[in-house]
Amino acid sequence: MTPVMPGTPRYAGIMTSRRAASSAPGQAGEAPQRPGASDDPRRAWTKGYPAPVSRLIQELSGLPGIGPRSAERLALYLLKQPEGVALGLSRALAEMKRSVRNCRVCANLTDADLCAICHDERRDRSVVMVVEQPRDVLALEMAGAYRGVYHVLLGRIAPLEGIGPEDLTVAALLERLRDERANTGGVRIREVVLGLNPTVEGDGTALYLAERLRGAKVQVTRLARGLPIGSSLEMANKAVLADAIEGRRGME
Ligand code: ZN
Repeated sequence: MTPVMPGTPRYAGIMTSRRAASSAPGQAGEAPQRPGASDDPRRAWTKGYPAPVSRLIQELSGLPGIGPRSAERLALYLLKQPEGVALGLSRALAEMKRSVRNCRVCANLTDADLCAICHDERRDRSVVMVVEQPRDVLALEMAGAYRGVYHVLLGRIAPLEGIGPEDLTVAALLERLRDERANTGGVRIREVVLGLNPTVEGDGTALYLAERLRGAKVQVTRLARGLPIGSSLEMANKAVLADAIEGRRGME
């Protein structure tokens, strides 16, 4: 259990995917319906199973990377397991949703008010690396070359998807820079490292941030281009990431 800390939490909760709410594409009444055919292709797989099994198959097939056949296989596997296995899974899901949130300062994932990195007094809180997602923090931590703290944007600017700076944690980052009390340990930030993915959108986001930070009394650097263009931090190996951190340079 984590007590709610005084002061306004910057993030009300885990930011959810914009697409999470969108439903499966319907089929707008072209082909005549065969008897028993369903609008939702996922339903076809659940036919003939008792309702609770069908429901689980449908829930699982809504997960990324899980097609209807995999969902069916998983559901039947779980059905065959001892009760403890399935209940353990459902308890883990409930516990995760109940306790995991975004860190009050950096928006990394945590089950407390502050994430473990913000909490760690040995980290250099005057250096903040801006990354897109919590999984980028994990990848960089695995590389082990970085001793500063982070700021997780929870996405990147993607005009084609209608994602702008206001959908990210940009305002909180600017506040951390403007007022040191908003940074971990009340430390003034002297360097912002732009650690966005080397993609078109990552680059666009980095340029936007560099522009916003112009005039702030802070050094703005970006990771070296040891990272291949179009790749992601998550997929980079330790050596490449360590090089990228060591070779960071001024953001012109
Ligand atoms: Zn944090």
